[in-house]
Amino acid sequence: MNLNHRHQIRRAIVAAFSFASLLGISQASQAYGPPAQAMNDAKRVDDSTLPSRALAGTGIAGSFNANAMSAPQLTFTLPDGRTITAKRQRTAEDTTKGRKSWVGTFTEQPGSIAVITTFKGATTGFVSYGPETWELMPGKAGGHVLYRVDDKKIPAAEPVLMGPKSENDVISGTSSSTSLTTDATTGGYVHDLLVVYTPAAKATYGQATLESMIQNAVAAANQAYQNSNIGITLNLVGLQEIPYTETGAIQTSLYDLQGTADGKMDAVHQLRDTVGADVVSLVSQDGDACGIAWSMRSISTSFASSAFNVVNSGCLSNHSLAHEIGHNQGNMHDRASTTNTGAFPYSYGFRRCMSDGTGFRTVMSYSCTGASRVAWFSSPNAYYNGYATGIAYESDPTNSADNARSMNNTASTVAAFRTSGTSTTTPVAPSPTAPTAPSGATATATAYNSVNAKWTDNSGDEIGFKLERSGNGVDYTEIATLGAGTTSYVDNGVIASSNFYYRVRAYNSVGNSTYSNVASVTTPAVPPSPPAAPSSIAALNDANGSATVMWGDASTNESGFEVRREKWDTRKLAWTGLTTVGTVPANATSMIDLSGSGTYRYSVRATNAGGVSGLVGPAAVTVTGGTSKGKSGK
Ligand SMILES: [Zn+2]
Repeated sequence: MNLNHRHQIRRAIVAAFSFASLLGISQASQAYGPPAQAMNDAKRVDDSTLPSRALAGTGIAGSFNANAMSAPQLTFTLPDGRTITAKRQRTAEDTTKGRKSWVGTFTEQPGSIAVITTFKGATTGFVSYGPETWELMPGKAGGHVLYRVDDKKIPAAEPVLMGPKSENDVISGTSSSTSLTTDATTGGYVHDLLVVYTPAAKATYGQATLESMIQNAVAAANQAYQNSNIGITLNLVGLQEIPYTETGAIQTSLYDLQGTADGKMDAVHQLRDTVGADVVSLVSQDGDACGIAWSMRSISTSFASSAFNVVNSGCLSNHSLAHEIGHNQGNMHDRASTTNTGAFPYSYGFRRCMSDGTGFRTVMSYSCTGASRVAWFSSPNAYYNGYATGIAYESDPTNSADNARSMNNTASTVAAFRTSGTSTTTPVAPSPTAPTAPSGATATATAYNSVNAKWTDNSGDEIGFKLERSGNGVDYTEIATLGAGTTSYVDNGVIASSNFYYRVRAYNSVGNSTYSNVASVTTPAVPPSPPAAPSSIAALNDANGSATVMWGDASTNESGFEVRREKWDTRKLAWTGLTTVGTVPANATSMIDLSGSGTYRYSVRATNAGGVSGLVGPAAVTVTGGTSKGKSGK
C-alpha cells in the first residue's frame, strides 16, 4: 500500500528532468565566445545590383554588423541556406590610420580564409572557402552585398617576366642595416610595400572601397605567410592613386610602372624611396590577366629595380597580390605550369589535381581541376587534409616544391631592397610558435560506455587538438585529432566500471603545446536489461474515493513498478491527464490510488536502471465515494 502520492509524483518529475539533462543538447564552444552574424537583415538581391564578376543568383544584401569586427567568430549565411562560421585568427589594427582587419579561418575547410577590413569608413572583405570565393562589398544602394565570384569571369592566364640571371650577381652587400628590416618581435623580416592604383580602378569601386580591398589582400598575404611558417610581414607603407591610363595590356602597365624615365608613373620611384618600400604593386583595370610580375632568380639586392608587379583589381580576393609579390620574392609556379626557375631549385608552387575532395593548390600554383587555391605557400612541412603541401628538396630534388623555404631564404635580401622609410604603419607580426596549452580539462561519464571530455581552448593559432586517454594514468594513447576551436569530445571507446584519464594538447605547424591537466572519471556499471512487462492488471473501486490497482509481477530484475492513470473527461469524451500516480518497490503487486470519484483507467510497467518494460493495461474503473479530485483543484 502506498499513499504518499505527492512524494511519488515529485520523484517522477525529478527523474524526468534528470533524463532531459542526459539528452541535453551539446553546447557550442564558448571558449571564443558566440559567433556574430556578418550581415544583418540579409535578403536575396537581383544580379543587376551586383558587380559583373558575381556568379548569377548568388547575391544577398543586408547591413554589415557593426560588432562583427570585434567578434571572436563570424557567421556568413549564404543564399543557398548554408551558414559557415569563421574563427578569428587575428585582427590587425592601426588606429592612427583608421584601419582594422579581421582575419579568420573555417575549421572544417583547411586553408580557408575570411578577411574583412574597415578603412576610411569603407568595409570590404572576402571569403575563400574550398572552391568558392565570396566577396563582401558596399552595395550600390547602401548597406553591403555578399556574392560568390564567378571563376569564369576572372582572368586565367598570367604572364611572368624573368629577372636577369647573372653569374656575377652579388649576394646582399648593401649598406642597409638589418635592424631596420627585421621584425624584432619574431625575428622575421618586414617587406615594406607600396601600392599605387590607377584612376580607372578608383572609379570602378570608389577610393575608400578600393583601398579597403587592397588592405584585405595585404592581410590575406600575411595570413598565408603565417600559415606556412614564413618569417615575413608584409607592411603596407604607402597606398595612393597614381596618374596613369592603362592600355588593357597588363604587361605594358608593368613596364610603365618599372620604367624610370619613360614619362609614365615615373613619380613612383621617388615615392618608393620616401616611404622606403621594398616592393611596389600597381592595382589596375587591365583585364587580360590577374597579375604580372618580375620573378627574382638571382638573390641580390640588385633585383630591387625589378621588384614591381601589377594586380588586376578584380583578383585581389584571389590571393593574386600575394602571388605577384611572391614572384618578386623569388617564387615560381608549380612545375607542371612553367619551364622557368625561381630563386632556388625548389622555388615552385605545389598542387594536387584531384576531384575527390582532396585537391588543392598553393598560392603560387596555377589552377587545375579539383584544386582550389588555399592560403598557403608550398611547404613539405604544412599539411592539407593530411597531404603535404610541398616536397622537400632533400627527398626529391627534381620534384621539390618549397616556396616557404625559398621565401625564408630570400626574405633578408628583399627586406634590404630599400631602407625603411617614414611610415608608422604597425606591422602584423607572424607568430610561428606552438600554441598555448588548453586547460580546465574535465571528464564526465554520460553512460557506462561513454565519456564526455571537455577543456578550455586558450590558443588562437592552433590547427587543432590531440586528445589522449589512459587506463592507468601512466600510459596514454591518442584517441582523437580535432579541429581548431574544439572544446569537447564524446569518447565512446570506454568500458563499464573502469577508471579513465584524459589529457589534451593543442598543435599547429610548429608543434604541440604542453598538455592540459589530467581529468579522471570512473564509468558506471553496465545497466541491467529492462524488466519484463507485468502479466496482467485489474482496477477495483474501493467505494471510498480510491481505487486498488493490482497486477501480475512477471519480471525478476525490476527495481519497482510505475502506476499511470488517465481520467475520463465527460465533456471531451476522451481519456485525459495521463500521469504517473505512484511508483512502488520491486515485487509489489498492488497500489491504492486516492483518485477521488470518477472514471479512470490504469496502466502499469516495471522499471529498473536499464529502462522500462512495456505497459500492461489499461484497466478501467469507476470510483465512487469521497470527492472528485479533478474538480476540487480548480
Ligand atoms: Zn604567377
